[in-house]
Amino acid sequence: MTTACRVWVTGLVQGVGFRPFVHRLAMRHHLDGWVRNGSGDVQIAVEGSPPEVVAFLEELRSEAPPLARIEGVTAESVIPEGLGQFAILPSTVEANGRQPVSPDVAMCSHCEVELFDPTNRRFGYGFITCTDCGPRFTVIQTMPYDRERTSMVAFQQCSACQAEYDDPSNRRHHSETNSCPRCGPRLWFGTGHGDWTARSRAAILGAAELLTQGGILALRGLGGFHLAVDATDGEAVSRLRARKRREAKPLAVMVRTLDQARQIAEITPAEAALLTGSERPIVLVGLRAGAGVALQLAPGLTQIGLLLAYTPLHHLLVHAVGRPLVMTSGNASEEPIATGNDEAMQRLLGIADGFLLHDREIVQRYDDSVMRVVRDRPVVLRRARGYAPMPLQLPVPTPRPLVAVGPHLKNTFTLAEGGTAWVSQHIGDLENLETLAHFRSALDAYRRLFRIDPEIVVRDSHSGYLSTRIAAEMGLSSVIAVQHHHAHIAAVLGEHGETGPVLGVAFDGTGAGDDGTSWGAEFLLADVRGYRRVGHLRPAPMPGGDRASRTPWRAALGYLSLEPGYTDLFEPAFRGVDPLELEVARRQIDRGVNAPLASSMGRLFDAAAAIIGVRRTASYEGQAAMELEALAGRRPATEYPAHFHEVDGCWILDPLPLLATLAARRSRGADPANLAADFHASVAWGTAEMVRRTASSAGVTAVALGGGSFQNARLLESLVSRLEFSGFRVLTPRRLPANDGAISYGQAAVAAALLASA
Ligand code: ZN
Ligand code: ZN
Ligand code: FE
Repeated sequence: MTTACRVWVTGLVQGVGFRPFVHRLAMRHHLDGWVRNGSGDVQIAVEGSPPEVVAFLEELRSEAPPLARIEGVTAESVIPEGLGQFAILPSTVEANGRQPVSPDVAMCSHCEVELFDPTNRRFGYGFITCTDCGPRFTVIQTMPYDRERTSMVAFQQCSACQAEYDDPSNRRHHSETNSCPRCGPRLWFGTGHGDWTARSRAAILGAAELLTQGGILALRGLGGFHLAVDATDGEAVSRLRARKRREAKPLAVMVRTLDQARQIAEITPAEAALLTGSERPIVLVGLRAGAGVALQLAPGLTQIGLLLAYTPLHHLLVHAVGRPLVMTSGNASEEPIATGNDEAMQRLLGIADGFLLHDREIVQRYDDSVMRVVRDRPVVLRRARGYAPMPLQLPVPTPRPLVAVGPHLKNTFTLAEGGTAWVSQHIGDLENLETLAHFRSALDAYRRLFRIDPEIVVRDSHSGYLSTRIAAEMGLSSVIAVQHHHAHIAAVLGEHGETGPVLGVAFDGTGAGDDGTSWGAEFLLADVRGYRRVGHLRPAPMPGGDRASRTPWRAALGYLSLEPGYTDLFEPAFRGVDPLELEVARRQIDRGVNAPLASSMGRLFDAAAAIIGVRRTASYEGQAAMELEALAGRRPATEYPAHFHEVDGCWILDPLPLLATLAARRSRGADPANLAADFHASVAWGTAEMVRRTASSAGVTAVALGGGSFQNARLLESLVSRLEFSGFRVLTPRRLPANDGAISYGQAAVAAALLASA
């Protein structure tokens, strides 16, 4: 007796070795039929004995490849038609199909063994892959996933590779990125002056020699170029910083193995799991004393960004050098990473001493993701390689397809249709033409890959942002503006599948408030549709506007202007500051010119750093806050009081008493590290107190925390434990960053909910 079945599988099922797996499974159960990729699913037909078909359907889920994420399996009995021996059929392209695209996957352990096995035909081959690993998103032009729709189309498999591809028992059966030294991408190395070394081994050795001698290497990776130097060579690191115009922002370090990582950093089990996972993000970990890496990697900080090699090329290079390597994005400061060979040669010529290039085109620009572990759980700081473009769900499905263009800094965009939201990888700060071009090409790619034609555009309520102009240029008749901090809270609600109401605490640098001032430390009684501002930090003028974020002393001056009686106490905050600049800032405050009022948690951290004497000027946004966190470490702390008062039903947290106490204790010679710890504890205490006041009157018992200030692990831990102790249920960012990388998703969540209720 024979039964027959048609099966449709949805989810992340292409680019993860799913068809070869189905083929093996069908053979094991002696079933006839076929499997093929559709545009929105994997389609299967099987015929055989009834118990075998049942077992096949069960194991389709239970034994799916590790990288697959099955969302739905639909099976339908059909009349047997005498299908032939089980086969993998060509893909079908359907107009409306839509499905996830696999992120790139770090090289698997099988490929790693082959890469370093002198008897293997892929020994030392920088582009080794199999169905379990390798580039996906960065090489895919459109779906369904087949070689002809990837940048691997330029490389025709040789007979040995083709034999693997055709052999159902081979690990590379239907591996679309399959190649070898004979037929695959080529590697070459040179200084950019026509001295190219074209053999792969010689190219790697040339690049390694350059690094060993302290040179700066530009290498073409998976989603763009990296700049590399020997991480143990302080002079080389300083040279890289000078040429890249990256004064102090921390640099990530790559090693090959977890053991090597442990020589540099203290690594917890949760951090080890993140480091070795197939996503291979950069993970912030505690730097070990005497680690032997250059001090210039993360000045003023106690954590360092570490990552394990994730492509065969990185493995070969780190292996050949035999030392940890700085791996930072291949760009001049603030620009997007270079992806093309010619582009990189132009843009990086004044930075790099040598170039390690290859000829596999990069379809998608894709930065390294950055994570850290807080309270034993991973949190995202930058979401890109390994995570994007996996979709998230919206808390309320959108009745019409939409695009949310995100914020000004740390931009991402989100395309949404129905209940699904595709959040782009990290795009960058929309402050130059290159990043703008990156935004546009990535948006085009997402529209093509996921076949979404947005009817509505969602933007920030700030009218001056470049993203607002982009929104206008899209020419869509429907535009929805979402307040920045509401978007932060909606993003946290949304990723937890909740709609509120909740007491939202949004702490960040600044965003446009809806009262004409800058907001950045907000207590919002919010649901996914709307909000009411029920509390905030006492606003202070920020002389110089956005420049205040790079000059903590300006933030201190802003607070001082509220209570001039503290002039003597705050004096250390302005030591060494150019008197003329100081005078200009004072006048800006006095006359109310270019000194917007801001209730910003970021600026409060800046003011505290200046007053404690940690930092009066910063070379990157958030530097003062990161250093305060590093300084505080895990030392015990005391809370200082803040003042609370209520004005028209809105609670105001006044941090001036706290700043004054810090200043007074410092003038009596207190250890800045203790003051930093006390500052964190006091902010957490004051915030928890604000939540108790604002939430209880509104009758909400859940709190959502969002905004870039919650990248600070000490602040987050301290606040969450206080709130939980008081009986609140606390939602924190998990799959998206706390920072503005989550804004576009929050905008989409708000707009969808508004449209659904309209
Ligand atoms: Zn592999
Ligand atoms: Zn080959
Ligand atoms: Fe923000």
